[in-house]
Amino acid sequence: MPVQDLLHYINAGPTPFHAVAVAAGRLEAAGYRRLDEAKAWDVGPGDKVYLARGGGSLAAFHLGNTPPSDAGFQLIGAHTDSPNLRIKPNPELRRSGYEQIGVEPYGGVLLHTWLDRDLSIAGRALLADGTERLVDFGRALLRVPSLAIHLNRKVNTEGLVLNAQKHMAPIAALDGLDPMELRALLAAELGDVGAKDILAWDLMAYDLQPAALSGINREFIHAARLDNLASCHAALTSLLAASNEVRETRGIVLYDHEEVGSRSAQGAASDFLRSCLQRLSGSSPEDYHRAVAQSFLISADMAHAIHPNYADMHEPQHQPRLGAGPVVKINVNQSYATDGESWARFERAAAAADVTTQRFVIRSDLGCGSTIGPITAAQLGIRTVDVGNPMLSMHSCREVAAVADVPKMIDVMTRFFEAP
Ligand SMILES: [Zn+2]
Repeated sequence: MPVQDLLHYINAGPTPFHAVAVAAGRLEAAGYRRLDEAKAWDVGPGDKVYLARGGGSLAAFHLGNTPPSDAGFQLIGAHTDSPNLRIKPNPELRRSGYEQIGVEPYGGVLLHTWLDRDLSIAGRALLADGTERLVDFGRALLRVPSLAIHLNRKVNTEGLVLNAQKHMAPIAALDGLDPMELRALLAAELGDVGAKDILAWDLMAYDLQPAALSGINREFIHAARLDNLASCHAALTSLLAASNEVRETRGIVLYDHEEVGSRSAQGAASDFLRSCLQRLSGSSPEDYHRAVAQSFLISADMAHAIHPNYADMHEPQHQPRLGAGPVVKINVNQSYATDGESWARFERAAAAADVTTQRFVIRSDLGCGSTIGPITAAQLGIRTVDVGNPMLSMHSCREVAAVADVPKMIDVMTRFFEAP
């Protein structure tokens, strides 16, 4: 049941590091072999391989029985990161009788959605012996309390103003005799390391409430990180579900750092995918360039569904509905990489899967969001279509999507892999 599986995937992936670890586990269970970027690759037709970079990005490939220089790569991309609150390096605060944790917004956080939620902490700890460990406290540790309406009488009529530095530090404890130290908490949680052994970390807050089905007919998914773990899940599931008859080399790439512009060693603006494709194409530059010229990328990231209470925020002719299928995202100014040719390519896969699609363009008087599609296309010169399932409340810590759209996107992606 792909929807229940998506809920599990989201619950198991509170951070990009966890999302990559869960994907790696599923790939290994399906016979994929882990490659090391620092070692020589020994790969051949029919092989199933994957690699990770920077902890939060992953690429996986099922090599075709025809060399990429003759058949190209069929690729699906998505991103593993979501806007959230990241723990500062010196996080301990003692103020007004409370112990607090300093946090910094990561990406375009819809800040008010983080108020009054049960928050935990997850991420990775980097140890003195050179290893790293994933950590997930899995219990309510933090809360960003809202201000009582009696102390902010105009909040409903004039709007809630949140200063990220002043208003978003969660409370963690009452100020006691022993000052709280995050490093010691982390060591206690890991169990077998001392606080001194923890050199550094990448930690973030997350909302503890598990992903759930909702609505009178259970037609909705309420969950954190639907943007964009839902697309990571669809890409991974379709790669694993597609038939073993493989002519073209199939691949998925799940990038970290999309929400902050993709400019990092493992983000979509890096050489991560190019380096993989070069190494899989063969030794001559000619082979790589021929492979790229025959390749195609579906860039999957969530799309804005029409909101019944704010319907005028959508372009009147382009109002994607929840449950009505994958959305092709088009922006003539190239905030999306779609053009007529790549749009048609996606429609062919959708028709083969018997799935109807929707289209999105932003209102002409609003700025358009962007995603990994145009960045990857500009890096590699691969024809690309930007698509995504529709959702509400994008970048909230609790988003909304439709149950019906989950299998549709997986079906289209699977057809894309099987009959490009
Ligand atoms: Zn996204």
